[in-house]
Amino acid sequence: MTGSKKSMLHRLAVGTSAAVGVWVAVDSGMELTGYGVPLPLAVACALPMFAVITSIGGGVSDALATKTYRCAAAGCDFKVQLRHPEAGESRRWQELAAAHPIHDHAQRI
Ligand SMILES: [Zn+2]
Repeated sequence: MTGSKKSMLHRLAVGTSAAVGVWVAVDSGMELTGYGVPLPLAVACALPMFAVITSIGGGVSDALATKTYRCAAAGCDFKVQLRHPEAGESRRWQELAAAHPIHDHAQRI
């Protein structure tokens, strides 16, 4: 994945989650104040909603951009996970996951 494509996907996910977070926080805050909840308390309730939704957007962005390479040997659980890898770096780690020297490392521990 190229750098501009990577950053575009990341910006889209984070930007969308931030926009949704602002919308949910403002809507919830306004609803709370409509029930007579004091403004500082409504803000204190709405801000965590914004933070959680924005955090979920970042997590989704990372999950979409993470590549996992597993060893194909039977019984081997070796794997490599890369977040936002470049093409050459991704190929190098894919080869490493396929050809790592000890396939039964879990049995030796
Ligand atoms: Zn292996």
